[in-house]
Amino acid sequence: MTSVTITGISKSYQAGVPVLKPIDLTIQAGELFFLLGPSGCGKSTLLRILAGLVEPDGGSIRFNGREITRLPAEKRRAAMVFQNYALWPHLTVFENVAFGLRAEGADNAKIRKEVADALELVQLADCAERKIPSLSGGQQQRVALARALAMRPDLLLLDEPLSNLDARLRDTMRREIRRIAKERELTAIYVTHDRQEALSMADRLAVMHQGILQQVGAPEEVYNLPVNRFVAGFLGDANFIDGTVTENGLFRSHFGEFQLAPTAFRPETGRKVTAAIRPERIRFAAQKGAHTFSAKLTDRTFLGECCEWKFDADGLALEVTESAPPMRRIGDVCELEFDPGHLIALQG
Ligand code: ADP
Ligand code: MG
Repeated sequence: MTSVTITGISKSYQAGVPVLKPIDLTIQAGELFFLLGPSGCGKSTLLRILAGLVEPDGGSIRFNGREITRLPAEKRRAAMVFQNYALWPHLTVFENVAFGLRAEGADNAKIRKEVADALELVQLADCAERKIPSLSGGQQQRVALARALAMRPDLLLLDEPLSNLDARLRDTMRREIRRIAKERELTAIYVTHDRQEALSMADRLAVMHQGILQQVGAPEEVYNLPVNRFVAGFLGDANFIDGTVTENGLFRSHFGEFQLAPTAFRPETGRKVTAAIRPERIRFAAQKGAHTFSAKLTDRTFLGECCEWKFDADGLALEVTESAPPMRRIGDVCELEFDPGHLIALQG
């Protein structure tokens, strides 16, 4: 298993237009790590730098403590899976998977064994002699994965590997990729713009925006305790509330004073801050109390197992998600409260 240490990696393709502001990141051996961010934020660039396909302007990369920044791609023992599969259409599945091993000069016995193992792992053992165009999109992506696995890489790099698949197949493949990564004890770095993919699969993830890692942590941590507005909004729905911090550390907004979550960010008294709360963290209170506030129901989206309610809380639009929702009427006035520990002060 291989750990990856990225120190001060920067990149511009055009002078004056930085794509990666210096990036520092450590990925543990055996970790399934996600780079999550919107299109154009620099995810593929960082992944390609790790693969040795793009040269960084500055900084260093170490695999297991060993500096590999200037090592050519084929010497890094990193294998990449691309969004568009990049398979050879005129070759069989077997020959596609064997491709890298043949290029390395592996003998036939080794090739037969590694290809068979890799095809077994992706559940395509019966398809070895098929030609690529006769396979479904999902099968083609499995071939691309098998080709990377057959190399026995120390590091598996995946760049939006499921983007071309339909939703049902994506779900299955998410579980498969996670199972394979864990079964082979791989260190894997997975790039996606899809928050569900990252939240459901990752051991840890980094949220990336404009060439900067905004936050790194476990999925629950980053979802529940986002550090800023971008992270809060990118990982899910969020309500943003402006207010100030009182002498006793409470958050004062125009409809009440509330306890803030105990995060590392401790804004000083009197400071204006924006706080975030997720729609599923606002509850309906049985009665009026010291920590409740009144809000008027303005709209609803019924989704079966839950309902997304829109409220007007003294001029502030709030979204509230309720599971197993009862009947409520537009115009009803409800008493709401924040789930304690879930109102997060944001650092910008
Ligand atoms: P992501 O994978 O997050 O969508 P990329 O790393 O592909 O982002 O791209 C980041 C930025 O760098 C984008 O603005 C993109 O247009 C630019 N870019 C990527 N590759 C090149 C290249 N080879 N030459 C010039 N600009 C590039
Ligand atoms: Mg990309």
